[in-house]
Amino acid sequence: MSAMGRKRTLQRMSFDHTSIMGLPALRRALYLIKTESSGDAMLEIQNLSHTYANGTVALQDVSLSIPRGMFGLLGPNGAGKSTLMRTVATLQEPTAGTIKFGDIDVLAEPERLRRRLGYLPQDFGVYPRVSAYAMLDQMAVLKGITGKGERKSVVETLLNQTNLWVVRQKNIAGFSGGMRQRFGIAQALIGNPELIIVDEPTAGLDPEERNRFLNLLAAIGDNVVVILSTHIVDDVADLCPLMAVLANGRLQLEGKPADLIASTRSRVWKKVIGHSELEEYQSRYEVISTRLFAGNTIIHVLSDDQPPGFEPVEGGLEDVYFSTLSILRRAA
Ligand code: ADP
Ligand code: MG
Repeated sequence: MSAMGRKRTLQRMSFDHTSIMGLPALRRALYLIKTESSGDAMLEIQNLSHTYANGTVALQDVSLSIPRGMFGLLGPNGAGKSTLMRTVATLQEPTAGTIKFGDIDVLAEPERLRRRLGYLPQDFGVYPRVSAYAMLDQMAVLKGITGKGERKSVVETLLNQTNLWVVRQKNIAGFSGGMRQRFGIAQALIGNPELIIVDEPTAGLDPEERNRFLNLLAAIGDNVVVILSTHIVDDVADLCPLMAVLANGRLQLEGKPADLIASTRSRVWKKVIGHSELEEYQSRYEVISTRLFAGNTIIHVLSDDQPPGFEPVEGGLEDVYFSTLSILRRAA
C-alpha cells in the first residue's frame, strides 16, 4: 500500500469555479460534511478480484488506498471500472479481497457503508415521469430524512446547487444528458455522504455540460472521498490530484498526475506524417497516439532516444495513458 495516500498534497486546481450559481452555498453546505464526518476515513481496497459467472475475469488483485479528495480511476471500456465501483458500492460481492472505509468492513457491514455512500451509477437506468423535486424528495425519504422541514431544506438546497431549481417541476424523463447527470449528483449528495462514487459521469455530455458537471464535482472535492471513474483523460487531468489507471482488470499505474507525466518526460516524440505512412511507422515505432490535424497525421511515439525526424513532446497525461495502453497491447 502506498505511503502516497497519507502524504498526499493537494495540487491547486486550475479550474474556473465561477460558472456555477450558488457555489458559495454549496461550499457552506459541504463544509458541514467535513465537520460532521468521522476523522480521516480512507478507502482501503486490498487484493480485490472478481470473476463473473460466465468466466469473465473483470478484476485481478487490485489494491488501492484512496484518501479524501478527488481520485480519478481512468481506464478504457471493459477495464473493470464499473465492476470495481459496484463492488465498493456494495451492489455486488467480489470473488476475493477486502474493502475497508475507515472502521467499516465494507463486505461484512454493507449497511453501514450505504449510510455514508453517495453513488451515481454509469447507467442510472430509469428516468420516471415524475418531477425532479418529487423524485429527490422520495429519495431523501429512502435515505432516512423523514422530518418534513429538514427534507424540504435538503431537497431545495440540492436543487439549487445543481442548477436544477428552475426545472424542478419538470419530468426527469424529459431532461437532457447534462441535467440527468446533475440530478444524479443531487441524489448522490443526499444525507452528506463521506464516500462519493461517480461512474463515467461525463460520457455523452457536450463540452459545456461536461464543464458544468466537473465544476460541481470540483466543489465537493476536498472534504470527502470522491472516486471519479472515466475513460476520458481530461476529466482526470482537470480535477484529480491522485489517480490510477485500470486496464484488463489490473491496476497499471497509480500516483499524482504530475509525477506520472514526469516519468514519460523525454521519452515521447512527435512527427507529422502523411496518413498513408502510418502503418510503416506503427511497425517501426511504439506509436502511442495518432491525431488528425489540418489534414495531416500527428503521431506520438515512445522511445528512449530521439528517433530521426521526430521532435520532443512536452508530455501530458494522455501520453502517460496511451503509452500504458500501448505497451499492454504489445504484450498481449
Ligand atoms: P468498465 O466499466 O471499465 O467498462 P466493466 O466492469 O463494466 O468495465 O466490465 C469489465 C469486464 O467484465 C468486461 O469484460 C465486461 O464485459 C465484463 N462484465 C461486466 N459485467 C458483467 C456481467 N454482469 N457478467 C459477465 N461479464 C460482465
Ligand atoms: Mg463502466
